[in-house]
Amino acid sequence: MYINCTDKELFILEKIALAAQKIQVPCYLIGGFVRDKILGRNTKDMDVVCVGDGITLAHEVAMLFKPIPEVHFFKNFGTAQIKVDDLEIEFVGARKESYDFNSRKPAVETGTLQDDQNRRDFTINALAISLNKADYGALVDPFNGIADLEIKNLQTPLAPGITFSDDPLRMMRAIRFATQLNFTIEEKTLAAIGENAHRIKIVSGERIADELNKIVLATTPSIGFDLLYKTGLLKIIFPQMVALAGAEYVDGMGHKDNFYHTLQVLDNIARNTNDLWLRWAAILHDIAKPATKRFEEGHGWTFHGHEALGGKWVPKIFAQLKLPQNEKMKFVRKLVEMHLRPISLTKENITDSAIRRLLVDAGEDFDALMTLCAADITSKNKQKVQRFLNNFEIVRKRCAEVEESDHLRNWQPPITGEIIMQTFNLPPSRKVGDIKTAIRDAILDGVIPNEYEAAFAYMLQKGQEFGISN
Ligand code: ATP
Repeated sequence: MYINCTDKELFILEKIALAAQKIQVPCYLIGGFVRDKILGRNTKDMDVVCVGDGITLAHEVAMLFKPIPEVHFFKNFGTAQIKVDDLEIEFVGARKESYDFNSRKPAVETGTLQDDQNRRDFTINALAISLNKADYGALVDPFNGIADLEIKNLQTPLAPGITFSDDPLRMMRAIRFATQLNFTIEEKTLAAIGENAHRIKIVSGERIADELNKIVLATTPSIGFDLLYKTGLLKIIFPQMVALAGAEYVDGMGHKDNFYHTLQVLDNIARNTNDLWLRWAAILHDIAKPATKRFEEGHGWTFHGHEALGGKWVPKIFAQLKLPQNEKMKFVRKLVEMHLRPISLTKENITDSAIRRLLVDAGEDFDALMTLCAADITSKNKQKVQRFLNNFEIVRKRCAEVEESDHLRNWQPPITGEIIMQTFNLPPSRKVGDIKTAIRDAILDGVIPNEYEAAFAYMLQKGQEFGISN
């Protein structure tokens, strides 16, 4: 066998070979499984192509296992899947494709193995391993994908312009593989992405989001975003991010390029978290900087309020990118809105009150917020970065101390709106909110202790001040 497989995988491959021999169809392992095995990456799904009917083969294979796995098949696509333990095996008949200009869904007819390899997106994804008796385990590699794997090169089997125009999702896949595998996209292939970038418009937002999220989750996501930017794809799928690029100068004073700053923050955070949404918060933290940018005489460049405006934009950007409109989106919004809070504390004398407010406002997302803020400390000046990081560590320590004594992380004031309404016989109204806020502020500022009795007495006092009685 050309590739290194586990005993369990070999056992499964032998069954597939046996079934194929029985119904006399040539069959091959193909695609990502072969690629990842050669690269020594974790593999999950197996793709099997046969010169015949994939659904029939899947049924034959299933019968060789006990218990017999269920065969999920899709007649229209001629594909079938079975699951053996935790391995998904997909079967398809070899095919030839032809594309219509307005759709990425091809007309399909049966073909040879070579036809099937021609329709694959990259040479490294067209590698096949024979499961046939005559040459069991041999590599079938018509485009020298092995050499490309060795030199970490991505190129299409056929002319790149046609390959990308036929199915423009392949452009996103090229950039995703370049990012995940740290491969270079071959020159003509890269140029063809630039030329065909506009074709991405025929791909569904959901498919684009899928690839984008895989880029975000890579070890060094900046590779992908830089390629998306340089090929012109980013301008089409996410123009707000492109607006961050570049630096303007007035009187010789410039500001940093916020696109590359954002990429640096994203790579920084990727070293500390695999949380997709925290990584999205890094991507979006400065998104409203271009819209809030001002040059103030004697002061320089400012971006006042970019965190609040950026937070406000998050739902719209999530909708545009087909990301979910759920609590994940709210988490990202909250982090964008709060991303300056811990840093602002490093610049002033830190009071317990300010620390308590930060803890309460961040709540269960406090650790995520601190991870984002640490990642946001970037500068070409290493000493400056170190100074900020040191100050930031002081804030982190103070937060830990205050949290230990006050337990504010999931804090709720001891007096609820309900109690206020009952005591003063008030309907739900602004006054109830004002009293509640006053009690909350008094506790956070240390005016009264965090206890029911003290808060109740304070409530009565505030009621009097507001001209309401119980
Ligand atoms: P991953 O599992 O990381 O997404 P993969 O290469 O296995 O990588 P799949 O989407 O599972 O990706 O596709 C399996 C194989 O099908 C690929 O290796 C490739 O040969 C082929 N393929 C998938 N999508 C396309 C496409 N849009 N155009 C051409 N070939 C494709």
